[in-house]
Amino acid sequence: MNKIGVLTSGGDAPGMNAAIRAVVRKAIFHGLEVYAVNNGYQGLIDGNITKMDIGSVGDIIQRGGTILRSARCEDFKTEAGQKKGIEQLENHGIEGLIVIGGDGSFRGAQKLTEKGYPCIGVPGTIDNDIPGTDFTIGFDTALNTIIEAIDKIRDTATSHERTYVIEVMGRDAGDLALWAGLADGAESILIPEKADDFQDVINRLKRGHDRGKKHSIIILAEGVGSGVEYGQRIQEATSLETRVTVLGHIQRGGSPTASDRVLASRLGARAVDLLLNGKAGRVVGIQNNQLVDHDIIEILKEGHSINHDMYQLSKELSI
Ligand code: ADP
Repeated sequence: MNKIGVLTSGGDAPGMNAAIRAVVRKAIFHGLEVYAVNNGYQGLIDGNITKMDIGSVGDIIQRGGTILRSARCEDFKTEAGQKKGIEQLENHGIEGLIVIGGDGSFRGAQKLTEKGYPCIGVPGTIDNDIPGTDFTIGFDTALNTIIEAIDKIRDTATSHERTYVIEVMGRDAGDLALWAGLADGAESILIPEKADDFQDVINRLKRGHDRGKKHSIIILAEGVGSGVEYGQRIQEATSLETRVTVLGHIQRGGSPTASDRVLASRLGARAVDLLLNGKAGRVVGIQNNQLVDHDIIEILKEGHSINHDMYQLSKELSI
């Protein structure tokens, strides 16, 4: 293999740039040429492909977002779109592609692999919802952004003796809510993977209030429903002053944490190693601090699950 490509796709995540840097530098270290496919799968179809050099990834390890930009591309879900993508890669003499993104992006990579084009997936998403890896690139940064925000909200919650509902990202995956809830001692954590027991939430709030708690924090993943509506229901049921904060896209941005930069560097470099060793259709990950790789089809079949012990612990610690 002499020439490889790299693209970022789907929702951006802090640390994607560190992963791009690792791919480019590791490839050049091994004497390969590296090409950026700009704008995700849309850029692949359009042939928006440019050569990278050592300098083109300088000064990006600390930046959020993705210098290759990302896009959502419906055309790539079609046979014709995928064939066009492979044609573009072949026209540039690119023999393997590294896709940094979430499960949607991996479905695209799987389609290319099924058509005989070698792809490696690198999990980059704040949701932490890719099986086969303990952490995805961006999760730690997003989690820390949430914690910083909740700590601030907590100050005003205490001063005014209020209940706060904080809506965090996570349409299908509750990891951000669960980890943030544990890290911030939330009274209740509401995630899509667990049935919402409204009466339990109310009982916890009342118990806390009766023993003189000055504030309460409830964390709700967006997939469970609207934080604003939930807050109204709580206020009606408890008569406690309840406010809602929807954190929104603030969770996606910002400089990646040290953990995310290191993870991205390790995973990006491992993806290059796999291509060099003739592997294809794999997703890289980290499990028990060891780099691993799994079959992309198996990963996509498996589906995400949360850590049930952590969920139970969050309940026990917020009695
Ligand atoms: P993420 O990678 O963050 O999960 P999306 O689900 O939006 O983000 O997927 C990103 C892109 O991956 C889509 O816009 C599309 O171009 C491509 N993609 C998603 N699903 C498929 C699929 N089944 N087949 C081919 N390409 C897909």
